[in-house]
Amino acid sequence: EALDKGLEKTKTNFFSKLGKAIAGKSKVDEEVLDELENILISADVGVQTTLKIIERLEERVKRDKYLNTEELDKILREEIMALLQENKSADLADFEIPKLNHPYVIMVVGVNGVGKTTTIGKLAAQYHLKGKKVVLGAADTFRAAAVEQLKIWGERVGVPVIELGMGKEPSSVVFEAAKKASEMQADVLIIDTAGRLHNKLHLMNELAKMKKTIQKFIPDAPHEVLLVLDGSTGQNAVMQAREFTKTTDVTALAITKLDGTAKGGVVIGISDEFKIPVKYIGVGEKIEDLQVFNRAEFVDSLFK
Ligand code: GDP
Repeated sequence: EALDKGLEKTKTNFFSKLGKAIAGKSKVDEEVLDELENILISADVGVQTTLKIIERLEERVKRDKYLNTEELDKILREEIMALLQENKSADLADFEIPKLNHPYVIMVVGVNGVGKTTTIGKLAAQYHLKGKKVVLGAADTFRAAAVEQLKIWGERVGVPVIELGMGKEPSSVVFEAAKKASEMQADVLIIDTAGRLHNKLHLMNELAKMKKTIQKFIPDAPHEVLLVLDGSTGQNAVMQAREFTKTTDVTALAITKLDGTAKGGVVIGISDEFKIPVKYIGVGEKIEDLQVFNRAEFVDSLFK
């Protein structure tokens, strides 16, 4: 399965080390817990979340007097599950969207290079495959490449991309895109925005302006503000999440590039710190490598 393959490096990093830490031991002791702490930190779970897990295990060791190393897997699984925010949308079938009498609007934020355009393209493809009418808005007008990339995805998938070219006012693009999506009675409108973190006030004002513009056509939009983070950057992704959540009401996360990294533990740390559900994970470059996040499957895959 793509998920297992995508998380392979994280899994190997985690389990070969965990295996070594408990080899020849029957009891979970201080030494095992110390080693586990190092392992979790090296998998980029993050210091705070790691300490939380270790403390919980210490409590259990104290309470039960004796904790068998064979049980460690099971308990660790439970603790990690509890720290992952549930993705409620995973209850729905994959890539389903709520039925509304107007387009469901997703605003996508994130810094350059994290996989924002690719994620939008993959989402558009999935919705399109489900027979949904999709419109894309190229409001990341700061970079010519962003507009071009989105157009390429639009052509590949076969959905309209509303763009005014580079350097145009993002909210003007949003205006045209929301208008078009409404006229077409589209099911989904996905808007790509510029992620300029170096000027927070500007970013905030720009996002606020875009929201107001969409609301002229779709009063309760945006229905989702999706922050895209590159999982392979580990703690860098955490820092970006801190910055974005300060300025933006982020409602969901997409964590990309989990394939090819041993830092997949970052999903656990981010979910715990921000209490925002991870909605999608990216485990490769193909369309089907964008997956709806399901915490039980994720944990299963880590412990397989
Ligand atoms: P943007 O600047 O944030 O829009 O980034 P792009 O969408 O252009 O993506 C940057 C690069 O990351 C591209 O080469 C993508 O193919 C790649 N990419 C995006 N998501 C994933 C993923 O989940 N796995 C892998 N391996 N590559 C990805």
